[in-house]
Amino acid sequence: MQFETVIGLETHAELMTESKLWCGCSTRFGEPANTQTCPVCLGMPGSLPVMNKKAFELAVKAAIAMNCRLNTETFFDRKHYFYPDLPRNYQVSQNYCNLGVEGYIEIPVDGEIKKIGIWNVHLEEDAGKNMHVEYPGANFSLVDLNRAGMPLLEIVSAPDMRSVGDAESFMQTLRRILLYSEVSDCRMQEGSLRFEASISLNKPGETLTGGRVEIKNLNSMKAVKACLEYEIERQTKLLKGGQTVERETRLWDEIKGVSRRMRSKEEAHDYRYVPEPDLVKYRIDSGWLEQLQADVPELPVKRRARFIKELGLNEYDASVLTDEKALADYYEGVLEYHHSPKKVANCIMNEVRAILNEKKIDIAQFSVSCKDIAALVETEENGRITDLGARDVLGEMVNTGKDPETLVEELGLESINDTDDLEPLIKEAIEAMPKAVEDYRAGKKKAIGALLGQVMRLTKGQADAKTVKGLLEERLDSMGD
Ligand SMILES: [Zn+2]
Repeated sequence: MQFETVIGLETHAELMTESKLWCGCSTRFGEPANTQTCPVCLGMPGSLPVMNKKAFELAVKAAIAMNCRLNTETFFDRKHYFYPDLPRNYQVSQNYCNLGVEGYIEIPVDGEIKKIGIWNVHLEEDAGKNMHVEYPGANFSLVDLNRAGMPLLEIVSAPDMRSVGDAESFMQTLRRILLYSEVSDCRMQEGSLRFEASISLNKPGETLTGGRVEIKNLNSMKAVKACLEYEIERQTKLLKGGQTVERETRLWDEIKGVSRRMRSKEEAHDYRYVPEPDLVKYRIDSGWLEQLQADVPELPVKRRARFIKELGLNEYDASVLTDEKALADYYEGVLEYHHSPKKVANCIMNEVRAILNEKKIDIAQFSVSCKDIAALVETEENGRITDLGARDVLGEMVNTGKDPETLVEELGLESINDTDDLEPLIKEAIEAMPKAVEDYRAGKKKAIGALLGQVMRLTKGQADAKTVKGLLEERLDSMGD
């Protein structure tokens, strides 16, 4: 029997702020343990939190980007639990009045667009980090509170995903939305983006065949994928064997590639949520809201669709160019100087990206201006240089900072299209390759390729291949027997 897979994802994203959520401590990653703390984030008695305005604004922007209904008057709650990395024994989060509710995002799946509901988006503080010392005989753990009090965005999806592929596309789309709207840097290796999954299997037509299993400790998209695949197999086996899938929370062991039971439903926490009395209620007035709405850029799925529809790009090019906001901005920047969407796309997809890969830099670090790339594409389009020539010119633009016009002359890369210039070279090629000539004249038209190659070699790739081919054909066809 085939079961229907039901997946929901809870995402935590570290917000891009300079300071923590309630205090002025730095959020910089990788500093020595416990050097970025103060009485507030250490939970000292008598210390009071003050809302970080930037963090609040980023959370609102994220909620807007995910099409949520905003609670324009909102407050925070204490979520109680004990853990050594949580100095106050409660986490300030939102439970009763989430900043954004009932939203959705659109994800591409197999060439179609699928809507995935977002139950809520809210702001909360991160906890510190326990470090379990792992050497023989060690009988203690350490705690680093640099992360305690960092602003965190929690995004809870509806259980709208039906396959591992859906979940993968959801995570990628969500990541791009957060990057595009400059809400989070989404650096997975630094823990800026973390996931928890819930998964259950149903018989067709049934809604609660298997219990809902929640899985924690998923630190990469790869881990989410592996864990979902593992759970689908584990739960299918149980159901097919006539057993039940219990509602429980499991932990993913990335190294062993298995999930382990953490606690059952009966042991689930009661967090005793109460409104946080140390913070005021926050009201977003219409002026502020308008400002924040204007701050949310056109999002990747929309931009990709526009590139296809209005600029005539194919799906692949549009996807690559909109993958990163900076790259898409650069592309459109070039179009402002020279509106030739396909040619400019080709240049960025091939030549520019080759340089970025080679130098291991991203587009923000690329030294050539949009204006100069536009000029380069125009020069190539006019037939003044060949695509090979364009590659050389671009390389020199990066090295010298000079504009394409100057370089074409300096490097002598002007393409050779003049018949008078080409004739002697064609003659030379024909004399050098009698076998190819013979084959061509005997009806093996493909033999012209060898002659064409020879002429291109003689011009160091600066001739226009189409012109040369035409001239060669003319010459060969008019040769006497
Ligand atoms: Zn602090």
